[in-house]
Amino acid sequence: MAICTICGNPLSFFDKNKVCPKCAEAYKTMTTAENRDIAMTICEQFQEALPNVKDEKIKELLTEGINKIQEKFKPEESLMHTTTGSFDGYAIKEYKDIVIVKEVFDSGKTQMLERMQDARPSFNKLDRQAKRLGANAIVGIKIEYSLVVTDQSGMWCKVMETISGTAVVVEKVHERIKFGEQYD
Ligand SMILES: [Zn+2]
Repeated sequence: MAICTICGNPLSFFDKNKVCPKCAEAYKTMTTAENRDIAMTICEQFQEALPNVKDEKIKELLTEGINKIQEKFKPEESLMHTTTGSFDGYAIKEYKDIVIVKEVFDSGKTQMLERMQDARPSFNKLDRQAKRLGANAIVGIKIEYSLVVTDQSGMWCKVMETISGTAVVVEKVHERIKFGEQYD
């Protein structure tokens, strides 16, 4: 009995293809997906199956699809962050501009403590600003919280989060090999 070139499941008697309908459908879903999780889940399964695919033509097609989808959903490169003015081993080549993100939280609607412990959403906004300026790092980052308004009982309040920093371009400094250390 003929089997699917990709998953090895038996093909129905009527199936003239080398690939079962399930795999064909999964391939189509992967290559057309707009959702990263869906695409990458299928992608991983195909990657696992790839070494066992004997048919060269199918193998080629599969590899092509995998590469395409990995390129499409490549995770965004995160910028380097520091609260200090520089990074060890890097030189600042260019100062772009100050970047600022302000967010107001309502204690009635937000888990304040959790939100303060994870300021990632604000950092993503900060990164986007910095990237638009052509920066690859942010130095001198400051996070501040201030009370905007509170009710008389003190049970409810609004807090403003301000994250700021300086968008810069940094470059790795190649340490010079000191003379004499080269050949030891
Ligand atoms: Zn299959």
